[in-house]
Amino acid sequence: MTTWSKKHLEMALQRIPPHPHPKRWLEQYTTPAPLAAEMLHTALLHGDIAGKVVADLGCGTGILAIGAALLGASRVYGVDVDVEALQVAKGWAEVLGASVEFIAGDVREFGIEVDTVVQNPPFGDRPGHGDVPFLDKALEVAEVVYTFHDAKALPFLERILEGRGRITLRRKLRFVLPRLFPFHARERKAIEVILLRIESLRRVSGAGGVIRRDALSPD
Ligand code: SAH
Repeated sequence: MTTWSKKHLEMALQRIPPHPHPKRWLEQYTTPAPLAAEMLHTALLHGDIAGKVVADLGCGTGILAIGAALLGASRVYGVDVDVEALQVAKGWAEVLGASVEFIAGDVREFGIEVDTVVQNPPFGDRPGHGDVPFLDKALEVAEVVYTFHDAKALPFLERILEGRGRITLRRKLRFVLPRLFPFHARERKAIEVILLRIESLRRVSGAGGVIRRDALSPD
């Protein structure tokens, strides 16, 4: 399982289609396979995927969740409000032989403790508008978070992470957005995104109703 090269992973993920009917208000931009492979392979090399419990918040058609399962995560949750996207994700998980538990619902309601979150949240039209609830939830449930954001939002994100999360890796990448909606003037638009690895600083138990695994162990 850990024998997947980044290129090999990218080729497998390339087969997963984008959302069939993207809705503007949910910002359903599917992560391009090269970017998904970049995130997942980086996480794999950091020891954050193989044998770990992973959640993909706002999983869409499942590219990050399926990729994490292919790379040997012990358990993967994929959460999205959009049932149609989840149906596509389920179908492709089956085709690619990836075991993922898909959950229909709002990420803000997700309450299972995991080792690692991988996510490409909605960016919103101003910093924090779309991605902050995802970041809040990820820091609440996970030890380590891999997340894409609009590179322009970085100073804002650094401020909101103060005391809550430590950025241990940042990598700027280009994200080519297809012309998804009629209001987009250009056919394709490249934006700079930033891939972050964040270690959650929450170590105290009892974080907002999350099921803590250490709370269940005898010691
Ligand atoms: N992670 C996928 C999709 C990214 S688009 C990928 O990398 O390709 C963002 C996704 O977040 C969409 O599928 C959208 O339906 C979902 N989403 C937006 N707000 C949400 C919320 N509050 N709870 C759950 N999912 C949400």
